[in-house]
Amino acid sequence: MLEFLDYFRTERLPHIWCPGCGHGTVTGALVRAIDKLGLDKNNIVLVSGIGCSSRAVGYLDFDTLHTTHGRALAFATGVKHGRPSLKVIVLTGDGDCAAIGGNHFIHAARRNIDITTIIMNNSIYGMTSGQYSPTTPQGMFGTTAPYGNIEHPFDLCELAKAAGATYVARATSYHVTLLEELIEKALMNKGFSVVEALTQCPTYFGRKNKIGGPVELLNWIKDRTINVKAAAAMDPEKVKGKILIGELYRTERSEYTADYNEMAAKVQRTFADYEGGTRECASNSD
Ligand code: SF4
Repeated sequence: MLEFLDYFRTERLPHIWCPGCGHGTVTGALVRAIDKLGLDKNNIVLVSGIGCSSRAVGYLDFDTLHTTHGRALAFATGVKHGRPSLKVIVLTGDGDCAAIGGNHFIHAARRNIDITTIIMNNSIYGMTSGQYSPTTPQGMFGTTAPYGNIEHPFDLCELAKAAGATYVARATSYHVTLLEELIEKALMNKGFSVVEALTQCPTYFGRKNKIGGPVELLNWIKDRTINVKAAAAMDPEKVKGKILIGELYRTERSEYTADYNEMAAKVQRTFADYEGGTRECASNSD
């Protein structure tokens, strides 16, 4: 039986996230979900890219890879390909995942490779001092949007669903119990799973947008969201403009590494048949 701190590299603590940052809350939810499921931590690989969120892997006592900007899913794909029996989890931010890593994101979803991706979306590049990101809401401010962001933001859950992910969910650093539950379900899905966690960056997003400190930001996030189950029973006019949280999409589709291994076995059988002289050429191998 592991204690909570057994999942952390305590010699690396205290962390260097700003006071009131939401990334620690999301990291805690992930650890509790892993613990509740009783997953073997020696069978888990955590992969991150670059950004404040990606620092999480430095504090977690698993096999971890802290990779280059936007490439967490590319490295994770390699790990999963090499050892499909491993549970591979990617921790990424909105800039890392949706900007420089956007192509890796859509192709990992398209392949339905068995990776759980947790996106800590605080709508800004925190580590590099507050530039607007692909998820900054229109009209909000950042250091590179001093007059307000004119771009339309990505809905990362809709993007994941359209690209082929088989489990898609969203919660926030305010709705911690829900976040834990959704991460658990994502970890149990055999395929590409995405949990978007809306979270707070008081240092840049809160300050640039004059929302206030961590508490005000958490309330701001809470007020913008509505549970998908509650929304289903409500007048659509009242749901308009709200961000849905909860389990948003789930389906079944064949998983990439399983398909790959099946294909590899078929190729090996075909070669064995050639060597045995029971087949003449590739064109009639089936
Ligand atoms: Fe968190 Fe923002 Fe500080 Fe980064 S800059 S650690 S995202 S509060």
